[in-house]
Amino acid sequence: MSDSILDLDRRHVWHPFTQEQTAPPPMVAVAAKGASLFTEDGRELTDLVSSWWVNLHGHAHPVIAAAVAEQAARLEQVIFADFTHAPAARLAARLAALLPGDLDRVFYSDNGSTAVEVALKVALQYFGNRGEDGRRRLLAFEGGYHGDTVGAMSVGRSSGYFRAWEGLLFPVEMAPYPVTWIGDAAIAEKEAVALAALEAALGDDVAAVIIEPLIQGASGMRMCRPEFLRGVAERVRKAGALLVFDEVMTGFGRTGAPFACIKAGVTPDMVCLSKGLTGGFLPMGATVVREPIHQAFLGESVRQAFLHGHSYTANPLGCAAGLASLDLLLGDDCRARIAAIEAIHLERLGALAKGGKIRHPRVTGTIAALDLGEGDYASSLGGKVRKAFLDRGFLLRPLGPVVYFLPPYCIEPAELHRAWDTLETAIGG
Ligand SMILES: *Cc1c(COP(=O)(O)O)cnc(C)c1O
Repeated sequence: MSDSILDLDRRHVWHPFTQEQTAPPPMVAVAAKGASLFTEDGRELTDLVSSWWVNLHGHAHPVIAAAVAEQAARLEQVIFADFTHAPAARLAARLAALLPGDLDRVFYSDNGSTAVEVALKVALQYFGNRGEDGRRRLLAFEGGYHGDTVGAMSVGRSSGYFRAWEGLLFPVEMAPYPVTWIGDAAIAEKEAVALAALEAALGDDVAAVIIEPLIQGASGMRMCRPEFLRGVAERVRKAGALLVFDEVMTGFGRTGAPFACIKAGVTPDMVCLSKGLTGGFLPMGATVVREPIHQAFLGESVRQAFLHGHSYTANPLGCAAGLASLDLLLGDDCRARIAAIEAIHLERLGALAKGGKIRHPRVTGTIAALDLGEGDYASSLGGKVRKAFLDRGFLLRPLGPVVYFLPPYCIEPAELHRAWDTLETAIGG
């Protein structure tokens, strides 16, 4: 038996979101730099999906790598009950300063799903602590995706990935989500319908409403307008429920602004962060909560405290990576790169849309998306486009018939243009 990486993998590794019987063997990544991934068989691939939306500044960025290495040699991990440490405290302070209003209290966890679980659990206990035990219902939006743990699956049920566990999920009402795109004439009407439905679903028994602001990622890069989010915020506030923005994907510059809530002009009650939080270096999540919510957990009894935690809560390496990544994100160079990516997306997608081969062109910040046609996740057209990109040295992962570019901010303009050229050729546009 061979001990090649592929053979060991084939015998012992189970991959996520993969039908291993029919999928081609995985590519063996041996190194990465900037927007490029290097494989064992000598290929260089431009990462157009930021490795599942986590990478911000490019792979193996030397500044983040050095921060992690330095932290690893100093303090690699410490129990986060009874202890704190500089990277955790500093990162929390910087997130609080960046986020609007009194979103000032950071609860650390391990990934996006846990950041969502924490938000849901905090919402329910918050009302319990205040003696408002009647507020137990949760609302979410059709097509929303919030992660793969049971609570996150329950609020993301309609994304369509969870049929095998249907019976396990707790009931969550789904409000309509007004998807929009460039040149969508009917959007105001769709928003009015969605907001009316939300208003009807809200009531004094609702604890929280969760939404992916500006763009639903996993269900197909479905965008909405800031106007809609402001309408949602107004209604949720009026009903006395908490508004949770799941910014696991939209955070840290993805939509052009540091956070989607800033771009939308909304201060939610909680913000879930992960993915780009560490610049794509380490798994970490954070749930940022408005300070008055945190206050409701203070008291004489331990039962009033939030009895939730993870072994690696506030891992110092993740926090050090997060601090270094924020330094890069807030630099002028990064802001200019983000603006340049959006400008190229708008220019090239506009030209492609004129050709009539695509539907629903849409852009928010560094994310561009379009529909090739109708279909579900198994859509073969998306698979063909993916193959065409691979042949030309690009990693692309269409979501069924939805093609999207979500590159690291360091991608060179010429390389991004080459990606758009490749798409034009692939669809004959
Ligand atoms: C990816 C994602 C999650 C889940 O994050 P994991 O780190 O994969 O658990 C939750 N919400 C949104 C919006 C996401 O894109």
